[in-house]
Amino acid sequence: MTIAFHDADGGSFPNLVLMKLAAWYRACGDDLEWFNPLKVEQYDRIYSSRVFTFTDDDGYLPETAIKGGTGYISKAVLPDFIEHICPDYSIYPKLNHSLGFVTRGCNRSCKWCVVPLKEGAIRAHADVDEFTRHRDLVLMDNNILAHDHGIDQLAKIARLNLRIDINQGLDARLIDDQIAQRLGRVKWIRHIRLACDDSSQTPAVKRAVELLRWHNANPARIACYVLIQDVDDALERIRFLKGLYVEPFAQPYRDELGTPATPEQTALARWCNHKALYKSSTWEQYRADQSKRANHSPMTHISQNSPQLSIF
Ligand code: SF4
Repeated sequence: MTIAFHDADGGSFPNLVLMKLAAWYRACGDDLEWFNPLKVEQYDRIYSSRVFTFTDDDGYLPETAIKGGTGYISKAVLPDFIEHICPDYSIYPKLNHSLGFVTRGCNRSCKWCVVPLKEGAIRAHADVDEFTRHRDLVLMDNNILAHDHGIDQLAKIARLNLRIDINQGLDARLIDDQIAQRLGRVKWIRHIRLACDDSSQTPAVKRAVELLRWHNANPARIACYVLIQDVDDALERIRFLKGLYVEPFAQPYRDELGTPATPEQTALARWCNHKALYKSSTWEQYRADQSKRANHSPMTHISQNSPQLSIF
């Protein structure tokens, strides 16, 4: 059989589902290739996977394509024998780290999050041995600290001397002295990432940062995701993080339909995530600068001084 894979998000982030399907079909001796709309007739099966809801539909994809992933608002899951296969990392040749989940689901019910609905309650999912083939490992667990298995796997990762990144923010409310000690023993690729999605979480974030630093968590650079819904509330959390010397990473809220962020949310994220801007100006200075620029743009000048063009 010839199997075609379509990474609907355009390869901006390696697609784990496609890597697992590739491993399965390769083991079965099938031919694999990336989807090419000119060869649709030659494919026995086409799989399309989409992570982000804001990714546009690909009009070249035939109706027969098998679609899955959060981006398609699909609850389809892989059968266990594929879910627990080691991914075929070769389909993303530039990928130099392993990728996977040791837990799935989450027991909390944050109103902005689809994880509990999509994945259900927290549970053990896999051992790192199942998918680790590199020294660097990226875990995508949504709330790894909420399950003993996740915490045990962190201890194993430290024993194996792997370097990790947990690319979803850690739940600061679950970081006590013991967990901070355990996190302090792990080697981190870049940042330890926390989440501060709501102002009610700031006391827990402060405590977690103190404990991580106390246990010499390496590296000293702690980052924190800041969800932007209400701009003023998000700005308050960014100020709070700056006071703790924690690097904020702001993310405008996107609903499951992929509704675009407002201009104000987008501007706050741009200022916060552009580290040169963030370090050299306050949000108020950045906004004042932006409006000054807008007032001096050539188009504004034309419309202000040329009544006959102002309707444009
Ligand atoms: S703790 Fe994280 S994963 Fe769990 S529901 Fe809240 S945002 Fe989602």
